[in-house]
Amino acid sequence: MAYTYDDQNIFAKILRGEIPNTTVLETEHSLAFQDIQPQAPTHILVIPKGPYVCFDHFAQNASDAEITDYVRAVGEICKMEGLEENGFRLIANTGRDGVQDVPHLHVHILAGRGLGRMLARAE
Ligand code: 5GP
Repeated sequence: MAYTYDDQNIFAKILRGEIPNTTVLETEHSLAFQDIQPQAPTHILVIPKGPYVCFDHFAQNASDAEITDYVRAVGEICKMEGLEENGFRLIANTGRDGVQDVPHLHVHILAGRGLGRMLARAE
């Protein structure tokens, strides 16, 4: 399936500066900011600056420089937030079954409390 990027999505607007965000880290190819509705004491979203819908779209099409920058940005945030000691969860919701609301690749970094088992069965 070929992904089509919708440049009117909310994270595209954040990247263009049309909507404010609380930035945690900005690098050449990536931006990390606080989730507006945090689900844990630490809830940070990390997005690539490029127009990628989801993780597989990014992995298949982004340059090595973008991919390296993105993965390193996640690592840098884990260090900045001191997450090594108690751990964290990294989530990349994708598509319909993954219940992805915003169609611009983002990983959620969740930490700061016990996060329970990985999956709850949908009703
Ligand atoms: P998804 O369900 O697509 O994986 O997660 C989208 C996330 O984006 C949600 O956790 C939601 O709270 C967050 N979000 C939605 N709109 C905004 C916004 O305008 N600003 C910020 N900082 N986060 C947002």
